[in-house]
Amino acid sequence: MVSELIDATSATWNFQRLHEVFMPMDIPAIMGIPLCTRNVEDYWGWHFERSGVFTVKSAYKMLVATKLRMDAWLEESAGSSSINTEEKPWKMLWKTQVSGKIRMFLWRLSKHSVPTEDVRAHRHMTNLDACGLCGGTDSWRHSLLECTVARCTWALVDDDIAQHLIATTEPDARHWLVALMDALPHMQFIKVAVTLWAIWSSRRKAIHEGIFQSPQATHMFIDRYIRDLEILREPRSSPSTGVAAESRGNRRQKAPPTRYAKIHVDARVSAREGVTAAVCRDDQAMEAARERAREAKEAAMEAAIGDDHTWYEFLPILS
Ligand SMILES: [Zn+2]
Repeated sequence: MVSELIDATSATWNFQRLHEVFMPMDIPAIMGIPLCTRNVEDYWGWHFERSGVFTVKSAYKMLVATKLRMDAWLEESAGSSSINTEEKPWKMLWKTQVSGKIRMFLWRLSKHSVPTEDVRAHRHMTNLDACGLCGGTDSWRHSLLECTVARCTWALVDDDIAQHLIATTEPDARHWLVALMDALPHMQFIKVAVTLWAIWSSRRKAIHEGIFQSPQATHMFIDRYIRDLEILREPRSSPSTGVAAESRGNRRQKAPPTRYAKIHVDARVSAREGVTAAVCRDDQAMEAARERAREAKEAAMEAAIGDDHTWYEFLPILS
């Protein structure tokens, strides 16, 4: 409710509340909106036309201006710490070589303003704080790390990073990100950033549009995105392309320890049909574990079609 953002006694914007809810670059614009002190009836009006009537032209202008404002803000943040001294570690974040969209996502995550159900419930936008996919209690950690889909995506992306993320149990998203930025090499942090964003995007698609992207597809997207970043980086870092070459080598999935099998099961289910796939390997080769892969595939198929509420299920990775 807008009224919650206004201090009724002084008829001014509540700066504290604005900071909790909005992006910093939007706050001066909001503060600039004059508040009415007279008692008049509310009505819907389009702010970007004097008449209050919506036009496509003004909407286009507004979108372009918003994008320019956001770009300018991101650029400025990369160059100075003028926004806020407590934002100092974010100078590092702005230098992360990912798109502004992903940096913005990390920033929102750090402010606990990524709209997970618990955040929406806190803002009275919903009564429930249950995860839209599994029904568990939602939180940024749940959505991005612990929910089944997230866990499966991390397992495919990078086992070592996944272990590291889970081990960093910091409940505050900002501290968690700062700890990761400190602990991980830059390329690995980029991988974390892209993966967090890709998991969030695929959740949104599944919950709001009913389009389910399998963890395998998300993983492929992340891989492609990072490869494109590396290609973009290569001409500039010419004598030492070591970083890119090294991370390319790391993309091979690691073999499990002796006497363990590692099974990747994946399924995609629409209203009428489903597709499942399973890859199983032991420490020697994929061949040796073919039989177990077949069993895993059947289990995935059963889970996918057996229960209306479970759109897919995964077997644990035994490594
Ligand atoms: Zn969940």
